Amino acid sequence: MGSNRWRGASPAVSRIASILLPVPLPEAFDYAEPEGMELAVGDHVAVPLGPRVIRGVVERLREGTGGNRPLKPVLERLDDPALPEGTLAFVNWAARYAVDAPGQPLAIALRGLRAQRARPEKVVVITGQAPTHMTPARAKVMEVAARTKLPPATLAGEAQVSAGVVKGLIDDGALEIRLIEPQSGFAEPDLSLKGRKLNASQAAAAAALKETVGKGFSAALLDGVTGSGKTEVYLEAVAAALAADPEAQVLVLLPEIALTQAVISRFAERFGAEPAEWHSGVTPPRRRRVWEAVVSGRCRIVVGARSALFLPFRKLSLVVVDEEHDASYKQEDGFIYQARDLAVARAKIEDAMVVLASATPSLESLYNAETGRYRWLKLADRHGDAVLPDVSLIDMRESQPEHGRWLSKPLVEAMAETFTRGEQTLLFLNRRGYAPLVLCRACGERMTSPDTDSWLVEHRYTGRLVCHLTGFSMLKPDRCPHCGAKDSLVSIGPGVERVEEEARSLFPEARIAVFSSDTVFDAEGAKALIETMAAGEIDILVATQAAAKGHNFPNLTLVGVVDADLGLRGGDLRAGERTFQLLAQAAGRAGRHERPGRALLQTYAPDHPVMQALKAQDRDAFIAAEMEMREVSGLPPFGRLAAVICTGPDAAVLEAYCRTLAAATPNAEGVEVFGPADAPLALMRGRRRKRFLVRANREVDLQAFMAAWRARARPPGSVRVTIDVDPYSFL
Ligand SMILES: [Zn+2]
Repeated sequence: MGSNRWRGASPAVSRIASILLPVPLPEAFDYAEPEGMELAVGDHVAVPLGPRVIRGVVERLREGTGGNRPLKPVLERLDDPALPEGTLAFVNWAARYAVDAPGQPLAIALRGLRAQRARPEKVVVITGQAPTHMTPARAKVMEVAARTKLPPATLAGEAQVSAGVVKGLIDDGALEIRLIEPQSGFAEPDLSLKGRKLNASQAAAAAALKETVGKGFSAALLDGVTGSGKTEVYLEAVAAALAADPEAQVLVLLPEIALTQAVISRFAERFGAEPAEWHSGVTPPRRRRVWEAVVSGRCRIVVGARSALFLPFRKLSLVVVDEEHDASYKQEDGFIYQARDLAVARAKIEDAMVVLASATPSLESLYNAETGRYRWLKLADRHGDAVLPDVSLIDMRESQPEHGRWLSKPLVEAMAETFTRGEQTLLFLNRRGYAPLVLCRACGERMTSPDTDSWLVEHRYTGRLVCHLTGFSMLKPDRCPHCGAKDSLVSIGPGVERVEEEARSLFPEARIAVFSSDTVFDAEGAKALIETMAAGEIDILVATQAAAKGHNFPNLTLVGVVDADLGLRGGDLRAGERTFQLLAQAAGRAGRHERPGRALLQTYAPDHPVMQALKAQDRDAFIAAEMEMREVSGLPPFGRLAAVICTGPDAAVLEAYCRTLAAATPNAEGVEVFGPADAPLALMRGRRRKRFLVRANREVDLQAFMAAWRARARPPGSVRVTIDVDPYSFL
């Protein structure tokens, strides 16, 4: 590196540095490398951009003078650890995949750096010099200080003395203040510890993973029913990856923050050390600490949400995507990506192994397993003695509850039996709040969000009407805002809060709790509620999808699905698949240990293929039917989809731009473009929305098509164009 300085005789010969900036620009910008700066790829630099100075990362260095813009010099090389080549390559790959600016994924990759480093802490330590005189208060302080190093105020509090006593001892020379750096590394996993005992099926899958980990890129689908013990299996792959290479790093992705605590505890138990945690609930200084430990290799295991995929791993050897079918892996705003698909790409770039785990794999992953792209590891048995729950359908056309009630007679009877036996019930309804719609009995007016095409949802706990799309909320008025009638607003339909109210009136002596994002705000709260449930201190838990995933409740023997048809009404491509996955997971919560469980599904469409497959517990039949439907229509995984969403405040301007964009559609074989059409959600935060849908054959380079198309019709300033490759939302 040092020899570059003497490269040329003439000081005029210098290098051009292409700098990737964490802002939405179409490409890296060229700058001149000042003499003597000796940049390397991945270095962080400060560069001028218009009137600003911003941080960027060196993507490429080349000799020459002509750049893609008039060359300004790089101002400074920053003292942060360089971004590894694999991370840079991944950032560029992700941008191309999403048909977006590379600065978008770069900004995610640099997120940990934006946070302040935790500052060194001032603590009080004993000097070894005896105090000139001793008092009972001084003795107490000395006693506490001998035990632990605390900041002065905390020390005084702990010793129950005034701050003056501590200060007196410092002045006296018996104590002194020292600055200590917050710990920056993570405890090394102990690879001598043994995992839990595996059954035959788990042992076979673990052996297959151990055989391939650390030997370049490979992908595996770990496919096993709820309770079959997938975590134990991938923990063995993690152990093998870490043992094969002392520098190897492992990333475990989870779809929900609520799941991280349970998984972290499992890792702590298996390796005697807690892994690093990465998600939106982690404080900025901690995030900085994780980022620095990952880039320097001082952290070997990260458990996190989808954005952990962009961490600057030095030597990534294994990526696990747990609950890989989960729709929360799709990031829907800002930089739009599907973390499961990017995890496979990142593993390929890093020459690592990727393991996708699920009880109800996505059709995409099943297709890749069937065609041999992924190794298919099936876990057959339930772990231990637990048996699968018995699933039955309640035909709501015959068992309709009375007006304003949502729990049918058969379900209430089952709840009563369960409660009498001292066992637990989970009532599942994927709908937050009290009622999804509030309308006026006098004039029929529906309460809607002021700037968005969506109904306001009533929340009884807060007494507010809330828009779940924008977060807008208002106090529930006592008069209809339309006709002025007093006390005329009525709540229509059930949310979890309303089901809880009904359960309370039916079982006044039962202990009842609600698990939704309105009652559980963070990982700590989720952990507390899950522990209370696991300890048997809740009789009936009413929950949204947050509780359908991954938790073990040994005393849970009944799952009641309040509205099994809810997911089927969306009318999008994956509605059936998603409903099947969610309900199968919810049903799978029951009877995971010695007690047999049952699941009751309330449905108005008992003949629907999804309901029949659930009743028969016949996943294969459901998948076969769904696959056939997708293949006939050329939909994913047999074809590819992308959506274009155009939004703007002015209907006429938006309309005109959409016509221009439609006329600019490139001609391409194997590609169909539908639209523009008004989006089902036609108004959002005051902006009108229109959509195009692109369907392409599998072999088409959809990204190239989309990029070419967009380049042919630049939108006016007021119109925003968003490309969503492989859309999950069709709103
Ligand atoms: Zn009214």
